[in-house]
Amino acid sequence: MISVEKATQIVLENTSDFGIETVPLGQAVCRVLREDLIADRDFPPFDRVAMDGIAIRFEAFEAGQRSFAVQGIQAAGSQQRELQNLSGCLEVMTGAVLPRYADTVIRYEDVEVKEGQAIVSTDDVRRGQSIHRQGSDRTKDAVIVPAGSILSSAEIGVAATVGKALLRVGRLPRVVIISTGNELVEVDEMPLLHQIRKSNVHTLAAAISVEGLQTQMLHLQDNKAEIRKKLAQSLATSDVLILSGGVSAGKLDFVPGVLEELGVKKLFHKIAQRPGKPLWFGKATNGTTVFAFPGNPVSSFLCLHRYFFPWLRQSRGLPPFEPAFAKLAEPFSFIPNLTYFLLVKLRSGNDGQIWAEPKKGGGSGDLANLVNSDAFAELPAGQQHFAKGEAFPFFRYR
Ligand code: AMP
Ligand code: MG
Repeated sequence: MISVEKATQIVLENTSDFGIETVPLGQAVCRVLREDLIADRDFPPFDRVAMDGIAIRFEAFEAGQRSFAVQGIQAAGSQQRELQNLSGCLEVMTGAVLPRYADTVIRYEDVEVKEGQAIVSTDDVRRGQSIHRQGSDRTKDAVIVPAGSILSSAEIGVAATVGKALLRVGRLPRVVIISTGNELVEVDEMPLLHQIRKSNVHTLAAAISVEGLQTQMLHLQDNKAEIRKKLAQSLATSDVLILSGGVSAGKLDFVPGVLEELGVKKLFHKIAQRPGKPLWFGKATNGTTVFAFPGNPVSSFLCLHRYFFPWLRQSRGLPPFEPAFAKLAEPFSFIPNLTYFLLVKLRSGNDGQIWAEPKKGGGSGDLANLVNSDAFAELPAGQQHFAKGEAFPFFRYR
């Protein structure tokens, strides 16, 4: 049995590289960018009118002129026009190119246009106002989004602006989520007294889908030959196997033995933690990574958030996950010398402090308690009493 810290270290030393692929812009959100997004033009690409109104030459205004003959309209999407004489004006729309020879825009709110004249009703006009200058935000060839960034909606807008209909991004792993156990039936089946519906695969798949990954599901009966055959297939066709159940000390817990028979190198088995102690972690010779979680629903859920997601994050080339801290809202005791992952409900005080309210629940089989909580607070081994106000890292799942 190893410590949580050691297990974390081993997991993060065994990240994978899933390679690069090209995807359409519409599928790129949440992916990790694998090229720089470079300004193909200045931002903005021309002196852009920033208000609906009139464009004038400031000299005329400065000399006291307040009435300007309207020479036409410069609309957004039209080629640049020009002021025919320096004492006239063009009506201009937001997003239009600033007309040639004009250098100042006065918004309609400060102008009355009638009978071909625009009469300015304010003396508060500054040279160059209401113009978004060419290149004032970014200049051509500037790197706007560097490779390695996560593509949120903000970066998607930049990609669109610089003409990237296709983007090079990190490929996502093919993940198979595997349940094990003779007691499990499908969601749409009516369980007999000694059976339960399988929930873990759905919980795990739902959590993973939030990260944008597609997953496949598979079920294995507690039958060694079946487990061997199906695991061999999954190992050959997936980047990651996430198993739940069959890794503890029971007579029918065949998973660790079969994995090793199939040549998956065990990197560790069992962590000094509760829940989730029997976690088995290994890597096959072809690079497929195996996270075999215990079957109790809270255990597999904790293991996914505590070990798999940080591993996934670093495998995708993102910086290490740094948990935030919350203060315990109530004192808590846990006597065994194990790291305890306490389910907590988080709330933020108006002092900016995050508070974690313990929701102990019925233990690792109590999946209903996940509904009452938001996160697992990590309480270190070797300490038995945890005071109100003491701060601990937490792993939130919503
Ligand atoms: P195991 O780790 O296989 O010994 O399973 C521990 C407990 O988790 C048992 O009570 C199982 O019935 C339960 N369990 C295992 N897999 C699942 C699953 N996919 N959904 C819900 N409960 C499960
Ligand atoms: Mg089982």
